[in-house]
Amino acid sequence: MMKINAFINLTAVFMLLVSGVKAQFVLPALQYSYDALVPHIDSTTMRIHYSNHHRTYVNNLNAAIDRHPELKNRGLEELLSGITAIPADIRIAVRNNGGGHYNHSFFWMLLTPKQTKPSLKLEKAIVSGFGSMDSFKAEFEKAAAARFGSGWVWLIVSDGKLKIVSTPNQDNPVMGDAPEKGVPVMALDVWEHAYYLKYQSNRGAYVKAFWNILNWDRVSDLYNAYR
Ligand code: MN
Repeated sequence: MMKINAFINLTAVFMLLVSGVKAQFVLPALQYSYDALVPHIDSTTMRIHYSNHHRTYVNNLNAAIDRHPELKNRGLEELLSGITAIPADIRIAVRNNGGGHYNHSFFWMLLTPKQTKPSLKLEKAIVSGFGSMDSFKAEFEKAAAARFGSGWVWLIVSDGKLKIVSTPNQDNPVMGDAPEKGVPVMALDVWEHAYYLKYQSNRGAYVKAFWNILNWDRVSDLYNAYR
């Protein structure tokens, strides 16, 4: 078994060397197991979402960049903020798959089985921006319900203030042509692939469950870093 694995790995390395292809973007390791978020997110959804959907975005992004090697030293955020200047033949692929890679990498890091709560500083900002924690949650849930089809809901810092925005498909507030740009501190995937196996068409129940697994420590850290 050991020998077979070693052979496969060496073969992969060799293939990369001879093809001259640099595997640029990689699927980041999940910091918890597929069943860690049960009952709020089921393990089958986590497995398919992470190892199929997210992996496909990464592979397709790399395939697009392979067609324009001059872009190979750019970071993901740089690709997305400069999306309007990406060569036309790969612009949509970079938008959808680069956005997909960015959004999912961000989303996984915001989930946790641990009980967490916002820092005092973040809570103050939420209360001052939205009236109360409950009205903030209600506004976020409303934005999630209002996103027709596939997309994302975000909490961003824009001009020093917290704002809830939503984006279609794999767009995000980092993209150069986003109608509402800002620094993301929280996000929720509202694509059906994120909840359909467990919640079917009940997106509202999935959004409510999100509050039980949201990593407020991470959101607080992001807010502290950018505010
Ligand atoms: Mn997704």
